Amino acid sequence: MRYISTRGQAPDLTFSEAMLTGLARDGGLYVPAEVPQMPAGEIAALAGLSYEEAAFRVMRPFVGDSFADAEFAEIIARAYQGFGHDARAPLCQLGPNHFLLELFHGPTLAFKDFAMQLIGQLFEAELTRRGERVTIVGATSGDTGSAAIEAFRGLAAVDVFILFPDGRVSEVQRRQMTTPTEANVHALALAGDFDDCQARLKDMFNDFEFRDAVRLAGVNSINWARVLAQVVYYFTAAVSLGAPHRAVSFTVPTGNFGDIFAGHIARRMGLPIEKLVIATNQNDILHRCLTGGAYRTEGVTPSISPSMDIQVSSNFERALFDVYDRDGRAVAQLMDELKAKGGFDVSQGALGRLRELFASGRASEEETRAIIARAARRMGRTLCPHSAVGVKVAEEQGIGATPMVTLATAHPAKFPDAVEAATGHRPALPDRMADLFDLPERVTKVPNTLTSLEALIRERTQT
Ligand SMILES: *Cc1c(COP(=O)(O)O)cnc(C)c1O
Repeated sequence: MRYISTRGQAPDLTFSEAMLTGLARDGGLYVPAEVPQMPAGEIAALAGLSYEEAAFRVMRPFVGDSFADAEFAEIIARAYQGFGHDARAPLCQLGPNHFLLELFHGPTLAFKDFAMQLIGQLFEAELTRRGERVTIVGATSGDTGSAAIEAFRGLAAVDVFILFPDGRVSEVQRRQMTTPTEANVHALALAGDFDDCQARLKDMFNDFEFRDAVRLAGVNSINWARVLAQVVYYFTAAVSLGAPHRAVSFTVPTGNFGDIFAGHIARRMGLPIEKLVIATNQNDILHRCLTGGAYRTEGVTPSISPSMDIQVSSNFERALFDVYDRDGRAVAQLMDELKAKGGFDVSQGALGRLRELFASGRASEEETRAIIARAARRMGRTLCPHSAVGVKVAEEQGIGATPMVTLATAHPAKFPDAVEAATGHRPALPDRMADLFDLPERVTKVPNTLTSLEALIRERTQT
């Protein structure tokens, strides 16, 4: 199995090379050269399997020779053992033919654990085999950083540094990053906002001398291995609702397009997905693009669903690659235009194909709060604000004979202020993490300058 860049100018890589590389050298994102097909019989055979067994069967063809079967199965088992629900991704019913896929039973209560826990184990196994160590640096607005720290804490082959905007993440998110005690975990509170964190991260990756010296690696949402991990739950959910004999639709609260792109891959593998719906909050660049054909940045307006507050959606490039018939040159041109002019127009042909693949909708702050309140009152469910955006957009699509599955991307207790404001009740953390507020915090405040950050990371990674 080979991986190619969406911009067509980087070398082809194996699965583990693409995983360790992250961003391709031509600035593109890695995608499989061909998407493996899963025949209906094999999809049907997933029924009744454990999540881990299903994960093995769905992901195996993408991994190629990078991991042997037994090793890969063990990696999957380790990745999901810390989840607080035996089903890993249980499905519950919200209303007539409307289902909620609960993706928040992992150690940091957001769906990112599905990918991060797996990638942590994959990195550890591959680096140990190579006798190498890497330094993972990530920038986070909250969820990615806590999921990364939780996934890499205590691993021997990795140091993990997470930059978060000082004072701008929720208390639960901050404590999830600052309470792990392992020596390889470094939570850095940067004097600036999330864009500053991302900009400094980019600067570090562009400083090749530094990048090579500390063996910098990234695990942000463009990493192919993360997308792959998310393909699995589309299969388990659809099969439990009758696939492959019956088609299923999905609505996905979307920011960087990683989660919904995984749904697109599941469909390309052969899973009968009828509608794949992009749900955005008021930062609706994707919805505007699908509606009007122009992909144009407008700045970020902070919302109560902060993990979807994005200016550009990094994984959208992978979808563009497909709808431009995998023409790397065309994609590179669009991305150059985005950088130079803050936007581009999608060609008529490509826009038509995008609209065949995806539907879209947006939820305002008002609408999101109203859904949280109604779900608590009428559906017996407490939704996090991201999941509420999904439920609003799913309902707007009209739920007919095809089951609709809305992805619940975080536990409500991760966003207690927004949930309390909408329902009057403060959601409690699951029992297994009730001590989060009693544990001592360990955090380093850092100025918003590249030199001080690099000095700190060099110092801490010297062995
Ligand atoms: C990251 C995140 C999203 C958006 O997922 P993408 O893969 O970036 O589209 C939605 N909800 C929550 C809770 C998240 O943490």
